[in-house]
Formats: sequence, C-alpha cells, structure tokens
Amino acid sequence: MNSEVKNNQIHKNDFFSGIPLPDYDQLVNCMHCGLCLPACPTYALTGLEKHSPRGRIRMIKAVADKDLEITPGYIQSLDFCLDCQACVTACPAGVEYGQLVEAAHHQISAFQKKSGKTSFLKTVLLNGLFKKQQRLHLAASLLRIYQKIGLHKIVVKSGFLKIFSTKLHELNILSPKVSGYKPYPKFFQKENSDSTGIKVGVVTGCIQDVFFNNVNHDTIDVLAYNGYQVITPANQQCCGSVFGHNGELDLAKKAVRDLIDLFWNEKVEHIIINSAGCGSYMKHYDTLLHDDAVYKDKAAWFVSRVKDVSEFLADQGFKRPENTLNLKVTYHEPCHLVHGQKISNQPREIIKALPGAEFIELQESDWCCGSAGIYNVTHYEDSMKLLDRKMDKIKKSGAQYVVSGNPGCMIQLVYGSNKFNAGVEVIHPVSLLNMFYKGE
Ligand code: SF4
Ligand code: SF4
Repeated sequence: MNSEVKNNQIHKNDFFSGIPLPDYDQLVNCMHCGLCLPACPTYALTGLEKHSPRGRIRMIKAVADKDLEITPGYIQSLDFCLDCQACVTACPAGVEYGQLVEAAHHQISAFQKKSGKTSFLKTVLLNGLFKKQQRLHLAASLLRIYQKIGLHKIVVKSGFLKIFSTKLHELNILSPKVSGYKPYPKFFQKENSDSTGIKVGVVTGCIQDVFFNNVNHDTIDVLAYNGYQVITPANQQCCGSVFGHNGELDLAKKAVRDLIDLFWNEKVEHIIINSAGCGSYMKHYDTLLHDDAVYKDKAAWFVSRVKDVSEFLADQGFKRPENTLNLKVTYHEPCHLVHGQKISNQPREIIKALPGAEFIELQESDWCCGSAGIYNVTHYEDSMKLLDRKMDKIKKSGAQYVVSGNPGCMIQLVYGSNKFNAGVEVIHPVSLLNMFYKGE
C-alpha cells in the first residue's frame, strides 16, 4: 500500500482517531537500532524485547497497522512501561516515544471502557480522588488522623489490608506522612525587597498541594525574596497529567482548560511549576488542545510562559544566600525533568551556589527511582527493585540530603530511605534554597 495513503487512513480513521498525538511518522521513524535498550529500566529488569522501547514501538505500530489486536499481553507491556522517557534521550532518530505511549494508553483506555474492563484502582483514583482537589484534601486529612493515632503502623505491620487487596496494602505502605495544611496567599510580595515588578503565577498542583504544601510555600517565599510579585490562584485542581498518563483524555482536557483559565485571568508574565511531572505535561498543552478553537491560543500562551522553578531561577538569576550551612548534598534527577524537559544543570546550579553545601554527584542520577506516577502502587515489586538500586547509589554517595524536584520521586525516596536504612533527608531544590535563605 502506498505509505501516504496508509498514513492518512490510520491517522484519520483508526489508531489516533480523536487522539491529538502524534504523526504516524513517529512510528516509522524508529529504525530498530536498539541504542535505547541500555537506557530502559524495564528492559534492564527483564531482558525481554517486549519490555524494551523498540519492542513496544513495534507493537504499537502493529496495532496501528491492524496486524495485532489489543491483547492482554500488549496492555501488560504498555502498563509495565514507566514512561520515564530515558529512551527519548537515548534515541538518535528523535523518536518521541512519550507521545506514542500516551496515545497507546488513550487507545487502550477506550478499548477497556468499551469492553467494561477498566481497573477498579484506576477508576477510584482517577474518577474519584483526582477529579476534585477537595476530595484529595479530605483523603489527606483522614490519612493524617490515621497516621497520628498510630493506626497506620499497626495496619502495615499486621498486613490486615492484604485480606481485601494487595494493592491497597501497598498503597498504605507508600502513603507519605501528612503534615498540617497552610493556605497560600493570593498575592505575595516581600516588603523592602528589590522588586522586579514582574508578576509570576505559581501552580500548586494536586499531590504537591496536599503532601508537600511546604514546597509550594517555599516556592512562593523564594520567588518573593527574589523580587517577584507572586500570584497563587485559588481553586487549582490537577494539571491533567494524572489523567493524560492513564488514558483519560477527556478528563485531562477538562483539567487543562480549567487551569489555563485561572492563569489567563491573572495575566501573569511567567507560570512557575515545582513538580517535574506536571511541568513536562504542561509544556505540551498546545499539542493537546491544538484542535480546540477556543483554547488553542490560550494553550500556546500558557506554554510560552510555563517554567520549572529551578529552570526559572537559573535562567533569570537568583540571590545567593548569605547563610552558610555545612551539608553534604546529592541530586536525583526526576525523569520528567531530565528526559521530559531536558533540565539537568539548573538544579545543580542552585545546589552549587549554596555556601557550605558540598555537592556530591550521584551515580546513575538519571535512572528512574521507580515512582513513575502510580507505578509504585500498580507495580509495587518492580518499583521496589528500581528503588533498591537507587538507594544503593544514594548510600554510596555519603550525602545527608538528596535533592529532587518532583513529588512522586520525593515520596518514593522518603519511603526508600526508611525501607533501605539510608538515613537521608529528601528535599526539593527550592526548599533547600529557602533553608539557606533563612539560615535554618
Ligand atoms: S519510557 Fe522508560 S520504561 Fe518506557 S520504554 Fe522508554 S526507557 Fe523503557
Ligand atoms: S526508539 Fe530510537 S534508539 Fe530505540 S530502536 Fe528506535 S530508533 Fe533506535
């Protein structure tokens, strides 16, 4: 068949129907060289071609060409992928694997809905908890009480939840410690600071908001300390990435439109995000809404302004702290920062600017820690193998602090530090910077 005719047929009618990603060219660009294989954690875990980027691309193409059905094996292979995008960095042909896997997830989700096989856990998390931030807050408050009265430890130790579901037991083990919640100021500017007169908006996120409320406050403080007028729009919900990565395209688009409106209405000059996974997703809002007549331009506006906080501070410059704290610090690179956004030096620049901080480079700093969204819940055992490897390198570094700018990585590393007796503190780069500003 003529390839152009074939491309159009597939693009218009089948595989990518209703899915704003990507060209069929992405599938045929893969030349099967295998240079991505050594970078792939799931290939390292199994040694199986079907769990490698090349194998997955072959299968996605076979489904698109209608040479392969959506089988349980196909779904398992795609679900087993961490979406870490290490293969994207390694690929000399520039294959946008991230777009392919996301399109495949949308397709699988549509197929599962049609055949009534949607996973119960995903339904509860996506259609229940993440749909409304108030529900996450309520869940976090209950979790806090549960942890405070000591029930959490007892339930983990007894393995009681395994009677109902192993996944529930794993979710319980992984749940991070919830601290008290402090609301954000709608507008914040430091008195007597050298004002830049620049208005920046802060995205507070969903997981970041309930579990790392302090990181959002540190972000606001650090930006204000550096002379920015900081706007934190109220009523923020998920940025859409949790839905997008799990095949819920309509929910993702709704979340994206709502978030764009909040920042559009404030007319901010920069939009700052401190969660790598969210930032990576937000930088593709324009692709996601490319056929939305109302939101296309607004999405492009948003994308042109959004920056990871470490990227923003390193690019624009930031005040050097006056306080000295003698600490040994290493850095774990969130996949969606280093591979998804190609941000690698900027967080290191921040750490190296801290008086008294000794920066120790981490071996395999860009190897996935196994967190990967809800992967540590859906694939607990494999996630723990990756975490074991990561904690081994962290222990060898001899650092007291491990820095990482993504809530998923932070939860995983805190859990890993306890599980593997690493004895390290896990901290966001912006919190570390604020710690030096305050001299605490
Ligand atoms: S995204 Fe990560 S896990 Fe998935 S194929 Fe690429 S390297 Fe492997
Ligand atoms: S994805 Fe890239 S690196 Fe991997 S096999 Fe295809 S062309 Fe080679």
